[in-house]
Amino acid sequence: MALIVQKFGGTSVGNIERIHHVAERVAREVRAGNRVIAVVSAMAGITDELVGYVREVSTLEDVEAYADHDMVVSAGEMVTAGLLALRLRSIGILARAWAGWQVPVVTDGMYGRARVEEIKTEQVNKSLDAGRVAVITGFQGVTEDGRITTLGRGGSDTSAVALAAAFKAERCDIYTDVDGVYTADPRIVTRARKLERVTFEEMLEMASLGAKILQTRSVEMAMNHNVTLQVLTSFEDKPGTLLVREDEIMEKHQVTGITYSRGEARITLVDVADKPGVSAAIFGPLAEAGINVDMIVQNVTPDGKMTDVTFTVPRADLDHALRAIEGAKTAIGYQGLHMDGNVAKLSVIGVGMRSHAGVAQKMFKTLAEKNINIIVISTSEIKISVLIEEQYIELALRTLHTAYGLDAVVEKG
Ligand code: ASP
Ligand code: MG
Repeated sequence: MALIVQKFGGTSVGNIERIHHVAERVAREVRAGNRVIAVVSAMAGITDELVGYVREVSTLEDVEAYADHDMVVSAGEMVTAGLLALRLRSIGILARAWAGWQVPVVTDGMYGRARVEEIKTEQVNKSLDAGRVAVITGFQGVTEDGRITTLGRGGSDTSAVALAAAFKAERCDIYTDVDGVYTADPRIVTRARKLERVTFEEMLEMASLGAKILQTRSVEMAMNHNVTLQVLTSFEDKPGTLLVREDEIMEKHQVTGITYSRGEARITLVDVADKPGVSAAIFGPLAEAGINVDMIVQNVTPDGKMTDVTFTVPRADLDHALRAIEGAKTAIGYQGLHMDGNVAKLSVIGVGMRSHAGVAQKMFKTLAEKNINIIVISTSEIKISVLIEEQYIELALRTLHTAYGLDAVVEKG
């Protein structure tokens, strides 16, 4: 008998009607002869509410406070797990609800963002052997000395993948409110297509670049433990997107998807002395201020005396970054400072880039034809990112989507 892990996110269990519906999905797998572990999130909005209560009573001064914080915010998942198990029994499916500590899902003691260290499978396996569905709370773990932890916001995805790895599940299906991973944001690119398959590496790039479908940690974990992961919707009956290893894709596209992030800002320091230690003088204070610098370019100067340095930060951190830089002005020794708070980053991603030349050139040429200026370029092995003025982001997305042959074919009537 195959073991399937099914994970249901907050909107999939958002009300009682949805929980009835989810119970039917679980029942279907059971009737098809599978053993099932169902992992649930809190009902949509509940975790936010619990976090809100905690903030009203505490400023979370120490580790003890964080431990109690986790006790509170992990509670939403207990409700859903109990309700789903109850509903399953009402429709004639044997089931039992499990809290994270009952399994147990053992984690380190980093409350609020704990990491899974070990999952003991014995108790749950006994229950599965007795023909029961195991409904397990996502997001929750327990320390070696018995205190409840949580895995960070969105952590139920990671719970599901960790359980799938520990129980050697045949598949881990993540039910969410989108029906899969698209070639681009379908709200902007109407001809975006749902991808049947995407590689783990591509998904990681997409996740960190703004396509927030799965918690990034869960993708990393699935990749490392070889878990077959599928993203699909619980709202409709259709196939989703399968995450696979690169060698499982025979025909690699140059570009699999295009992502964007709007909230970027650029800072340029003009006439900085071109000598050792300058980059450290610039980026040290930014790191200390907790600001995440993304793209960086530095000019090479023919005389080796002065250079310009340009970098990007999240727009929300722009003022903070400017203060950090101005505070270090003497140490850095720049002559001028320019900034632009209206820029956005666009990235084309595809494992096929490793073996195809000309992907970057096509991007630059396509943007040039639309008269869109590229401010900064950065690349990795499977990604090319450009910084452009934010007002052109939608035009750029659509044009590139067409240029790379990603548009859905529209049936002619
Ligand atoms: N309920 C938790 C959250 O809202 C975990 C999850 O849904 O994945 O972050
Ligand atoms: Mg989620």
